[in-house]
Amino acid sequence: MTQTAPLIDPFRRAISYLRVSVTDRCDFRCVYCMSENMSFLPKKELLTLEELDRMCSAFVRMGVEKLRITGGEPLVRRDIMTFFRAMTRHLDSGALKELTLTTNGSQLAKFAGDLHDAGVRRVNVSLDTLDADKFAQITRWGRLAQVLDGIEAAQKAGLRVKINAVALKGFNEVELFDLQAWCAARDMDLTFIEVMPMGDLGNEDRLDQYWSLKDLRARLAERFTLTDLNERSGGPARYVRIEETGQKIGLITPLTHNFCESCNRVRLTCTGELYMCLGQEDMADLRAPLRASNDDARAGGGDPVGHRTQAQGP
Ligand code: SAM
Ligand code: SF4
Repeated sequence: MTQTAPLIDPFRRAISYLRVSVTDRCDFRCVYCMSENMSFLPKKELLTLEELDRMCSAFVRMGVEKLRITGGEPLVRRDIMTFFRAMTRHLDSGALKELTLTTNGSQLAKFAGDLHDAGVRRVNVSLDTLDADKFAQITRWGRLAQVLDGIEAAQKAGLRVKINAVALKGFNEVELFDLQAWCAARDMDLTFIEVMPMGDLGNEDRLDQYWSLKDLRARLAERFTLTDLNERSGGPARYVRIEETGQKIGLITPLTHNFCESCNRVRLTCTGELYMCLGQEDMADLRAPLRASNDDARAGGGDPVGHRTQAQGP
């Protein structure tokens, strides 16, 4: 297939980062993310593994250098290793600089070695608490021991692990320093995410769990010397270094839009919708043109990115 024009948005920002959801399903039911009785999409709505390959490969040709695979829970998608292994060719060619994933860790013990073989070098594992009972409470269906085994397996396989924790007032607030120390002891960075309201999950009683990361940072500063790091990942994360441990702490405030000028990322849903911005509903359906034609350059005779997006695409 021919080389296509790079993805440059109307603000002249190069899009080099694509986050791809490969499934809407999950083996957990975290209270801030899903309701207990979720109904999931029919299979035909989802991009097949071949379609995901075609889509991601097109983005890589257009200049995406970093692919982050997510879900739902990416590792519960059947045969997902086929997709990871398929992406290895883009790492080998040098077009793709990083292939990574965000996971709840439940399947890592099973897949860590395969992921490493496919060229994955870093994983983000979501872990909000180190207390088994609280873990069961927040994930509803998860078991802490399984996730801890997964993290250990990932490190043994040579994957660098970063922990993501949703900051929840009155829940893991008391564990701030335990989580930090636990990660430091295992040479893992740690990122806190401010909780986002997720609509009707039947958890109205939990919506008062918002814990400002400004407050969290101030708590860390009471105990440690913090240095603000200038590095930006192109997304909503800011970083500080704890001088005493050398650890990097990320602070993600998804609702604070103060990073737009440096944003380099777009997001693809498991049904092939491309979202250009975390804070906007503007999206383009890429599945219809993908299914309408085998030609990535001009699928369906029109602009595959469609009319609803501002991105200048293939
Ligand atoms: N299942 C995988 C996992 O949990 O890591 C990947 C998908 S999950 C949706 C990606 C990240 O979003 C996780 O770190 C999770 O904690 C976070 N997340 C989910 N719901 C959230 C919410 N309401 N507010 C903030 N972060 C949330
Ligand atoms: Fe959501 Fe991830 Fe929790 Fe699953 S593990 S419910 S996708 S946050």
